Amino acid sequence: MRTITPLPITDEEYRNIISNFNISPTFYTIHSILKIEMDWSFTNRFDSFMMWAWEKPNLLRLFHGTKHACDIWNLDDWSKLCNNSECGVCGILKFGPLLSKAQPNLAGTYLWYSPTVSMAHEYTGPLKLNDDGFRAMFVMDVIHGKPYSNSIVIEAQENALPRYLIIYKVYREKFENQEDILS
Ligand SMILES: [Zn+2]
Repeated sequence: MRTITPLPITDEEYRNIISNFNISPTFYTIHSILKIEMDWSFTNRFDSFMMWAWEKPNLLRLFHGTKHACDIWNLDDWSKLCNNSECGVCGILKFGPLLSKAQPNLAGTYLWYSPTVSMAHEYTGPLKLNDDGFRAMFVMDVIHGKPYSNSIVIEAQENALPRYLIIYKVYREKFENQEDILS
């Protein structure tokens, strides 16, 4: 059964995600971390890649920022997902990461993942005007990724499986500028 479940703050998985959320805590607060159980067809497919591969693929756990169209601060159950086809958050949860939704660049069409929060953060944001600074970032398991421009890219959408969704709230738009206000 597909589910999204908020993790308790005391949960080991919650603390593990936080420990990898590598940006300065002065610029955001974590609203919630949702553990994702995708539809069995997605998990089954991914697990079988891992199980049956001649040579075990290298498994990476990476961040993926995406846009949201709905009230992500209310997300605590699958029934709350919206039906807006532009909503990256609900789209990925329902249909998995889709190459058809990826922005092609000169190198081709890829799905992009990042080991750093600050880079993935650049791709988050609201599709409506007022969202009070809320952002959504996925944590996904990725196989057959290749390094490209400080990121990891994949060419096949089957090679990524969403594991967690981090809902956070930022106080500043760009983390890079944090030195500006400190000086
Ligand atoms: Zn949505």
